[in-house]
Amino acid sequence: MWRECAMTLSIEWPCVALANSPLAKRTTLKVGGSAEWLLEPSTPDELREAYLVAKEHKLEIRVLGGGANLIIDDGVLPGVVISTERVRRTFRPLDPGEVIHPDDMTEEQANKLFDIEAPAIAVNDPRLIVWAGASLPGLVRAASLLGWSGLEGLIGVPGTLGGGIAMNAGGRWGELWDVVDMVRILRPDGEFEDIQRADANPGYRNGGLGECIVVGAVLRLTLDNKHRVAARQREYLLEKCKVQPVTESSAGCIFKNPGGPKAGGENSGEISAGRLIDELGLKGLERGAAAVSKLHGNFIVNRGGATATDVFGLISEIQSRVQEARNIELEIEVKRWR
Ligand SMILES: Cc1cc2nc3c(=O)[nH]c(=O)nc-3n(C[C@H](O)[C@H](O)[C@H](O)COP(=O)(O)OP(=O)(O)OC[C@H]3O[C@@H](n4cnc5c(N)ncnc54)[C@H](O)[C@@H]3O)c2cc1C
Repeated sequence: MWRECAMTLSIEWPCVALANSPLAKRTTLKVGGSAEWLLEPSTPDELREAYLVAKEHKLEIRVLGGGANLIIDDGVLPGVVISTERVRRTFRPLDPGEVIHPDDMTEEQANKLFDIEAPAIAVNDPRLIVWAGASLPGLVRAASLLGWSGLEGLIGVPGTLGGGIAMNAGGRWGELWDVVDMVRILRPDGEFEDIQRADANPGYRNGGLGECIVVGAVLRLTLDNKHRVAARQREYLLEKCKVQPVTESSAGCIFKNPGGPKAGGENSGEISAGRLIDELGLKGLERGAAAVSKLHGNFIVNRGGATATDVFGLISEIQSRVQEARNIELEIEVKRWR
């Protein structure tokens, strides 16, 4: 492994590139080892260049968004991890000069966008052009400040636009693909392609884009009133906080609901994995510093200093206990990198 790593040290990358870079802090569960190479392009074109160089060297390529639906094994991941963290700009469509960074947007800036006198800003056009690394919480906040509806259902969902589109993030109040007009992808052959919503086939927690990398999207929201949008967001967040450990380190839901999901709903499978785990008294079960959340049986939390080995040990134990007691095979929903 180390000999192979040394061989890639001479590669000239077209963007910021970190060798043997730790990944745990780049995920919400905060476990896992390091990447042989962590690449940090800052534009879609740089991302494409980085992808092509990695491909040319026949390296394994993975894409990292906010790491909110991911468990990374301990040790060194061979190949490259392309982080979209710097590819995070957001634009208004009809005014190429105006760049909005949703994370940094103040109320004053949002109000300015609604100022009918402001030059070259299409107040009645509630669309955003968003690059892959823009944060979902930032977009939700921007939508609230603008008084645009459509993203309320993503309140409290961490991660990025790219990861959200790849996973079709959402829940009982709606999914990200509900507001997608168009997605720009990087295909495995290294070419960009624009996919219109009508030509896409997203499913439950799956954007249906296969191996393609999401580099950006056009989101179409609905003009509304900012107080109403904020009120809905508050209501949904309160509901979410009652059932999910949103302030603890986790990777979201670990297991698929056995029997498969019903359309549209969070944990709406025939049998909920969380309820099964709860019924077997497994909430609070620990392995090292990893534990089954006491709030939601389908969440594993890192109490500080857990390793991926702890987390996967706990996952295996839950799977065997559920298999033994109920003869049900729990399948992992979260992504695993090894
Ligand atoms: C507390 C908590 C609550 C959560 N609640 C919800 C919820 O209610 N509903 C829900 O759906 N999810 C929920 N999640 C899971 C997570 O927030 C979503 O799945 C989110 O969309 C993950 O985005 P990400 O950018 O972090 O993706 P990552 O975790 O970085 O990646 C996930 C997968 O997407 C791929 N990916 C990432 N970026 C791209 C890209 N640009 N192009 C192609 N593939 C890409 C990765 O390679 C990986 O396979 C929750 C997570 C936590 C920690």
